[in-house]
Amino acid sequence: RLHNQVQELKGNIRVFCRVRPTLEHEQDASAEIRFPDQDLEGKEIEIVGATEKSALGKETTKTHPFSFDKVFGPSQQNVHVFEEISQLIQSALDGYNVCIFCYGQTGAGKTHTMSSPDGMIPRAVHQIYETAKGLESKGWTYTMEGNFVEVYNENINDLLGKADDLDKKKHEIRHDPKEQRTTITDVETVILDNPSQVDSMLRRASKTRSVAATMANMRSSRSHSVFILRLIGVNHATGQRSEGTLNLVDLAGSERLSHSQSTGERLKETQSINRSLACLGDVIAALGSGKEGAHIPYRNSKLTYLLQYSLGGNSKCLMFVMVSPMQAHMSETLTSLKFATKVN
Ligand code: ADP
Ligand code: MG
Repeated sequence: RLHNQVQELKGNIRVFCRVRPTLEHEQDASAEIRFPDQDLEGKEIEIVGATEKSALGKETTKTHPFSFDKVFGPSQQNVHVFEEISQLIQSALDGYNVCIFCYGQTGAGKTHTMSSPDGMIPRAVHQIYETAKGLESKGWTYTMEGNFVEVYNENINDLLGKADDLDKKKHEIRHDPKEQRTTITDVETVILDNPSQVDSMLRRASKTRSVAATMANMRSSRSHSVFILRLIGVNHATGQRSEGTLNLVDLAGSERLSHSQSTGERLKETQSINRSLACLGDVIAALGSGKEGAHIPYRNSKLTYLLQYSLGGNSKCLMFVMVSPMQAHMSETLTSLKFATKVN
């Protein structure tokens, strides 16, 4: 590729697992989660289930081992996690389409990892900005365009638009197969020509969401947020062009919501989250199967339809599966890890 030799990946999909630390008010309630070297990074994770006593008094403990491309323990900070993805981020400047997802139940650490002031979104923008500046001496000029949307109930909302427009203004996804990209109609695009703009962009998005959310409606855990950064590079010396996209996605909470307990709007939400997460899993699994000409069901959800060109073809995809250390969350944790194993 253009600037740096990007390490060849096995397939184009990787899965990282991250276990968040136990929080202050959660002490004493954590599940037993094992790593090869406790807090260090490895590739294996083991969830130790409850000990059962048989009729004859024999005790057995069921353990659930999983293995991923990387496992981050609770003492690993965002800065360490970012080190492991910085090459992948870099490849968007080289013209790749990159997708990074955070998957997991509500409270497992998705937003902390992705969109907190110290998370992957601001870190990625800062790094790309620095690298682009370094490439100026070689004749390159980059334009960075950002969009920030949410997919809620299979509708697209503009997190950079007016809060009043949320759930009202209609946005369509347009496909441009020739350019191999999708666009969204009527959304605000911010030109990020200064990395400090990313912080105000994140604040704006979170304000838009909080204004729209009623107290009972934990909107951010019921919708997918998608940050789209388009990087257009032109080399004035050689005439080369490069176009890449970085998509950073904070997915809706993956907790299984029982249909019987919800009605009306809630039921619609529940069904749309379940369906779109399942569809994302199907698309990634189909892509990862490596079967030539396999049918990829992009059209089954808005999220995969939007990200179509960043999931297949000339793209790189990374899924973070987030794990809560809480005993009470263990059953959901196992479900998340199984989902992540299926796409890996
Ligand atoms: P989610 O977005 O998956 O619902 P959050 O990112 O909001 O979860 O995390 C839940 C809580 O745990 C928040 O209070 C967050 O600050 C905290 N948290 C998550 N991950 C970490 C971490 N790696 N280190 C410290 N605190 C964390
Ligand atoms: Mg969140």
